Amino acid sequence: MQAPVLLGIPLDVNSSYLRGPADAPAKIREALASNASNQWSELGVCVEGAFEDSGDLNLGNTLETVDEDFRAISAAINDSLFKGKTPLSLGGDHSVTYPVIRAFNSHFPDLTMIHFDAHPDLYDEFEGNGLSHACPFARIMEEKLAKKLVQIGIRTLNDHQHKQAQKFGVEIVPMAALPAYNFIKDPGPIYVSFDMDVLDPAFAPGVSHWEPGGMSVREAISHLHAIKGKIVGADVVELNPARDPRGISAAVAAKLVKEILGKILKN
Ligand code: MN
Ligand code: MN
Repeated sequence: MQAPVLLGIPLDVNSSYLRGPADAPAKIREALASNASNQWSELGVCVEGAFEDSGDLNLGNTLETVDEDFRAISAAINDSLFKGKTPLSLGGDHSVTYPVIRAFNSHFPDLTMIHFDAHPDLYDEFEGNGLSHACPFARIMEEKLAKKLVQIGIRTLNDHQHKQAQKFGVEIVPMAALPAYNFIKDPGPIYVSFDMDVLDPAFAPGVSHWEPGGMSVREAISHLHAIKGKIVGADVVELNPARDPRGISAAVAAKLVKEILGKILKN
């Protein structure tokens, strides 16, 4: 069994609008360990003691150190994969997915990515930053780090990103077309990238970019459970604790982590 391992990635320097997601890993762990709930996934798997926690990376989290930080992220993920583990990263803004997937490529060259997000994050560059949290999937696809990219819950597609999606052959399931069960039946290996803002801000207000008209927590869990192929890695990103004073969104993130862990353990 490939034991899941949590890795905190406290990086939010590539956020375009608000900082804050660097504080998310600690909040998600806290909610995950809270006695307000138990450690059982709805899939009937107890996750307690079934995963490792490698703690948080020590990152500079500045524009001057971002290249070095990305190298540190790739190195940590590569180390986990080399040891045969299944990394579940806690962001951090969405820019972290690019260095994570760079490390995955040498272990899983034929990765299918299932990406939950209000935004396609396919900008060639955003406000002069090619590593922006609005760009990771452009970098991943142009470097051919994934065999296939399926984006679910999208509701902000503009002309530029539509062209990018066509250029890279991205399968987009817009929010209005849900459920997306027929699009998540690939055999794998599967990588799940979960941006918290795919959820309606009524369910998860603790994100930088409120985009109304999103998924309920139940819809998200149903989609996670419906994934067919073997999950070899995942991330939960874009929780912004600065906008989550009551910790409701952290509880949602922890619930999703628990369900992803349950899914990995049931593989
Ligand atoms: Mn995103
Ligand atoms: Mn987003």
